[in-house]
Amino acid sequence: MQLIKNYIAGELKEPAKKKYLDNVEPATGQVYSQIPNSTAEDLELAVEAAEKVQPSWAGLSLEKRAEILMKVADAIDDHSNELAKAEAIDNGKPFSLAKAVDIYRASANIRFFAQAITQFSSESHAMGDEAINYTLRDPVGVVGCISPWNLPLYLFTWKIAPALAAGNAVIAKPSEVTPMTAFLLSKICIEAGLPAGVLNILHGDGPSIGDPLTTHPKIKAISFTGGTSTGAHISKVTAGMFKKLSLELGGKNPTLVFADCDFEDTVSNVVRAAFSNQGQICLCGSRIYIERPIYEKFKQAFIQKVQALKVGDPLQEDTQHGALVSKPHMEKVLSYIELAQEEGGNILTGGKQVTLEGRCEKGYFVEPTVIEGLDNDCRTNQEEIFGPVCTIMPFDTDEEAVTLANGTQYGLASSIWTNDLKRAHRVAKQIEAGIVWVNCWLLRDLRTPFGGVKNSGVGREGGLEALRFFTETKNVCIKY
Ligand code: NAD
Repeated sequence: MQLIKNYIAGELKEPAKKKYLDNVEPATGQVYSQIPNSTAEDLELAVEAAEKVQPSWAGLSLEKRAEILMKVADAIDDHSNELAKAEAIDNGKPFSLAKAVDIYRASANIRFFAQAITQFSSESHAMGDEAINYTLRDPVGVVGCISPWNLPLYLFTWKIAPALAAGNAVIAKPSEVTPMTAFLLSKICIEAGLPAGVLNILHGDGPSIGDPLTTHPKIKAISFTGGTSTGAHISKVTAGMFKKLSLELGGKNPTLVFADCDFEDTVSNVVRAAFSNQGQICLCGSRIYIERPIYEKFKQAFIQKVQALKVGDPLQEDTQHGALVSKPHMEKVLSYIELAQEEGGNILTGGKQVTLEGRCEKGYFVEPTVIEGLDNDCRTNQEEIFGPVCTIMPFDTDEEAVTLANGTQYGLASSIWTNDLKRAHRVAKQIEAGIVWVNCWLLRDLRTPFGGVKNSGVGREGGLEALRFFTETKNVCIKY
């Protein structure tokens, strides 16, 4: 059985207390590796290493820092098959998705911020003939990055890349549910020559290592992606410590389909938006509102496409719908399907656990599920299920669509499907969300601000927003 290790001061290390957690392959239900459940003692070693090396890392020329990060990105590409397979095994997502999306984006994230830092300029403000102000943006120092299980290496690198590029030393914690690709990345960093201590990776769960990490006095900024309740907990335990916090939290994203959309293209993309990664993407559109004149036609075409999704072993090339990430998560999703029925919902397709034959007979598979007949205020439509479950509802006017879309505590992402340009602009402006896609979904430009409003988060990632988060701003005013 493979033993995952921490990455501290450039070396792979066992945890000080020798405590381990089981790591399960969700497609088979079998424990296949063990991961350190790290503690404050491991954190101390990591902070010491990070503090020691950070000034020299920040002191490298931008070109040199970028060059080293580029080597890490290249090494990820060199190992892309191995990483994609590891991600599919660890998370349950189809190998094809892991290869095309997760691992592709992991190296793209690092490459993007390695380049971005060489273009990161700051402002100056002239005060006539009297004085000039200029802005310095220095690295924060030692920063913490905490990521979730749904896009393991993709989101892990999305955080560490800007932090490292900006000259910080990083203590990062991947999800204990999907630790494998972050572990493989530690080996890749050693191979690529990342200076020891610049990146430290500690494995383990929230109580054992998450809490010590977020409350450590020497860690001055925390970039967190995960659930809204964990985000609230981190806000509470760090209150009064004056840390920079970036919180990317849950979503319950609306998809607005207008009668004048490009019908076939919209149906295909709304299926993708609802069920990619088994619906376990924070940006997935799980509440689908359809303008009444096309409701029935859309419903039939949508169901047909959902039923055609191939559920199967994540390692098979033709699988489109893999396993859910864990048994507790599968049980949570199934309990929401039950709740939806208690709330009066009608299951149009799906609704059940799938038992596959062979290697995956004990895996955590759930059918892609579509539900109708629920009102907007029920729990099924208000709470984040984070699985292959969506609801469909009709609407009559633009105003009603916007009210329904905005009627939850969340505000992460949304998509609008229409050929009416004025309506697209008007509705996009009215939607309470950090991200609005029009006639597309998950079309990403890494320079754009990324994040949510309301209970979906605080702060923005992406492009300059991320580089600003990972730097401290200082104004220098010089009198002529
Ligand atoms: P989670 O909140 O349970 O865990 C996220 C990370 O936080 C994990 O690494 C976990 O170990 C860690 N953690 C748990 N308790 C902690 C504590 N007390 N202190 C510090 N760290 C702690 O979330 P999850 O179940 O892994 O991920 C799913 C959630 O993430 C969903 O709500 C989803 O919407 C959200 N998400 C949001 C975005 C976004 O960009 N907004 C992206 C992906 C996922």
